[in-house]
Amino acid sequence: MSFSNLGLSPEIIRAVSELGYDKPTPIQMQAIPVALAGGDIMAGAQTGTGKTASFTLPLLQRLSSDQNVKNNANGFPPIRALILTPTRELAAQVQESVRDYGKYLNLNSMVMFGGVSIGPQKQKLRHRVDILVATPGRLLDHVQQGTVNLSRVEVLVLDEADRMLDMGFINDIRRVLSLLPKQRQNLLFFATFSDKVKTLAAGLLNNPTMIEVARRNVTAAKIVQKVYHVDRERKRQLLAHLIQANKWYQVLVFSRTKYGADRLVKQLGEDRIQALAIHGNKSQGARTHALAKFKDGTLQVLVATDIAARGLDISELPHVINYDLPNVPEDYVHRIGRTGRAGAEGQAISLVCVDEHHLLADIEKLIEQRLPKEFIPGFAVNPEIKAEPIPNGRKAPSGGGGHKTRRSAPKSASQRSAKPASSRTAAGEKKSGPSSSAPRRSKRK
Ligand code: AMP
Repeated sequence: MSFSNLGLSPEIIRAVSELGYDKPTPIQMQAIPVALAGGDIMAGAQTGTGKTASFTLPLLQRLSSDQNVKNNANGFPPIRALILTPTRELAAQVQESVRDYGKYLNLNSMVMFGGVSIGPQKQKLRHRVDILVATPGRLLDHVQQGTVNLSRVEVLVLDEADRMLDMGFINDIRRVLSLLPKQRQNLLFFATFSDKVKTLAAGLLNNPTMIEVARRNVTAAKIVQKVYHVDRERKRQLLAHLIQANKWYQVLVFSRTKYGADRLVKQLGEDRIQALAIHGNKSQGARTHALAKFKDGTLQVLVATDIAARGLDISELPHVINYDLPNVPEDYVHRIGRTGRAGAEGQAISLVCVDEHHLLADIEKLIEQRLPKEFIPGFAVNPEIKAEPIPNGRKAPSGGGGHKTRRSAPKSASQRSAKPASSRTAAGEKKSGPSSSAPRRSKRK
């Protein structure tokens, strides 16, 4: 099977072959023909499967093959495709792909997200935008200010819809839907199926084709997964030891909390390991800077929270470390999905202390696999140490700062968008324990 067998135009095929794609991935093989025929799609596919091209290529083909659209009052064609993503980083990445795949087509795209000044976005919207990639909050700010018109959207893509729902975007999504023409094509992508996704899909999709590609966690034999048992207070030492002894570069470390991520960066610095953190409290500039340095190999360690890391396309990542196990077992799957890409072998290592044994059990149940457990010489576990409940963020070191457990719900769309996208949620970064003590996922009005 080749891209030309899928019925894509020579301009699109030229662009993807220049990117080195010689054959479509399974999700592309399944989704592209359906989308080209105009059908709605509901697809389960994680980052790394080639899902972006699976919705972008048919979308580009559809828009480019029919350019006979009436101009708006501003003299330009209307926005004809809207791609919604949960995070800014994913939005930026998707728009980059739209640009790359559409480089030989006469179509313009734009990305918009919060946390950056709205002025330049307004300016861009005065010109031609065929394809808009947006996060929901900032999009609604533009709607409120009357600077964006969605009344002629022909194709809607919800990328990582499950994550958007987890992040409390349901009402924003509903509002956006109410602004779109009834007659349109809908492409809904999710990584993990849930009742919320099902409900959203039921109200949105019209006779959809269901597509699911193999979950990377279960099938990706190229990811070597290991658990190192270690005492709570010695995790940091073990992490530094592993990085230094093995001379690891490009290590993505997951922290359960933003506070924990910052603290770890500082501690790694004390061990002369260069690290930066990426999470919802960091400015957009700091996030972009850290990500760029990490991607180009000049930053040894990136410490991330689940939400900040979600959807980042960092290819062929050799090492993913779960410094803390996630409270939500599905997040383990997302985390390790960043390694072992594109045929490269990757390592996913979890540092597990006595407090986290139940989280490990949940993960093993989900992935239907027992993870190999190892002890590192010099880091033997002290059996005297008893399990403690996992607090909201690890305990602050003496004299250290606390960790906020609550944030009052923002009020207006513009107030909301002043915050980074990932601070909009109580999910992931702010959940307390694995039990019912976890606060509910944020629901915004
Ligand atoms: P995605 O799942 O959309 O985030 O894509 C993951 C990575 O796979 C990106 O770096 C893409 O450039 C790459 N990719 C997508 N489709 C193909 C393909 N058909 N062949 C090779 N690489 C691809």
